[in-house]
Amino acid sequence: MGLRYAWSSWRVLLLVFVAEFAFHGFTYGEKASNYNFIQEATSAPIVSFYDYIIIGGGTAGCLLAATLSRNATVLVLEREGSPYVNKTKIRIENTLSTLTDTSPDSFSEAFISEDGVVNIRPRVLGGGTVINAGFYSRAETFFLKQNGLDEALAKDSYEWVERKLVSKPVVLQWQSAVKDGLLEVGVLPYNGFTYDHIIGTKIGGSIFDENGNRHTAADLLEYADPNSIKVYLHAVVQKITFTTKVGLRPKAQGVIFYDAQGVRHMALLKNGSMSEIVSSAGAIGSPQLLLLSGIGPALQLEALGIKVVLNQAIVGQGMADNPLNGLIIPSPVPVELSLVTSVGITKFGYDIEFASGFDFSALSIAQSPANFNQILHALIILLIES
Ligand SMILES: Cc1cc2nc3c(=O)[nH]c(=O)nc-3n(C[C@H](O)[C@H](O)[C@H](O)COP(=O)(O)OP(=O)(O)OC[C@H]3O[C@@H](n4cnc5c(N)ncnc54)[C@H](O)[C@@H]3O)c2cc1C
Repeated sequence: MGLRYAWSSWRVLLLVFVAEFAFHGFTYGEKASNYNFIQEATSAPIVSFYDYIIIGGGTAGCLLAATLSRNATVLVLEREGSPYVNKTKIRIENTLSTLTDTSPDSFSEAFISEDGVVNIRPRVLGGGTVINAGFYSRAETFFLKQNGLDEALAKDSYEWVERKLVSKPVVLQWQSAVKDGLLEVGVLPYNGFTYDHIIGTKIGGSIFDENGNRHTAADLLEYADPNSIKVYLHAVVQKITFTTKVGLRPKAQGVIFYDAQGVRHMALLKNGSMSEIVSSAGAIGSPQLLLLSGIGPALQLEALGIKVVLNQAIVGQGMADNPLNGLIIPSPVPVELSLVTSVGITKFGYDIEFASGFDFSALSIAQSPANFNQILHALIILLIES
């Protein structure tokens, strides 16, 4: 029994899954959107027991839950709703409006970091895969080696994800032109279509299919055993509870969560050796939850009146965002709608990605940076740290 803290870096996210679980080559074949195991938290019992409790039904949380439910009972607690309630919001043409919609029921939550950087984090089943750019890569081979991960198992696991979520994008004019441009300026070699993250220019995978529909991590719940899993929506986890004994490390015992009507519920771990609580609430949500639960720098917790369960200096420290520079060029003529497809992976530690066709004028002035609401047809170039 214990507590596990899922990594949040998107480059390595899949490897959390790879490291922990074996490939299961089966499917229940039904659509997750139809499953009755996904319910509102208001229907949850006041106290319940599971082998695994997963906090945050995001990118990592859905993967883990689907796999773990094969051999154990699993509870997923997601603080907001389902992406299936409004499928038009997750179509490719609505990417920008969905990302910038921060109204109370939206899939995106805006925040500003202490150093003033405007940012967004997901709040929806499927997490970041519901609002992100949909670009899919496998981790670098050196990462697998560095972390002692089994390459064959990693490959099987990637394929498990790819079968449900990933498509080969159609390359039209703009993406074809930028691919040629990358090669011309020396982002070499040309690696063709590949999921591998390797130096050079490539056509990458996308979680948007050829019809412009986004596939999210919530779709992976189709792999779950419907008899062993429960997913509660609008279930905000407030803290993890621990049992403490003098001289022993604290043991995770359960979680306290609140439903949409403010009713308090407890989910507890069954007394098995496999039982674990997995905190997969995102790069900000997970450390926040640990701190609220008394795991973190003792001085900081005491100053906030939080009882210290474990003095752990690094929790909530050293956070950094991927630096990104964007160039948005208004096009006088309509251009194809595209998201990250042709990509330049440079040896200097940054990637060059492209999008096109987004209509900034459709955004409200409040959502749109100064003057952007005059851009009808945008060509977008992004420089992102690898
Ligand atoms: C704008 C944008 C574009 C991106 N583009 C790409 C891309 O093209 N390709 C790529 O690979 N990555 C991309 N990423 C990054 C990627 O989406 C994230 O790294 C990834 O989704 C993180 O997964 P996660 O499981 O750690 O967290 P998340 O997917 O964020 O999941 C965390 C979940 O926990 C829930 N939660 C939080 N707190 C609580 C609580 N207290 N109780 C219950 N639930 C809670 C949240 O609602 C959320 O659903 C992008 C990210 C952004 C923001």
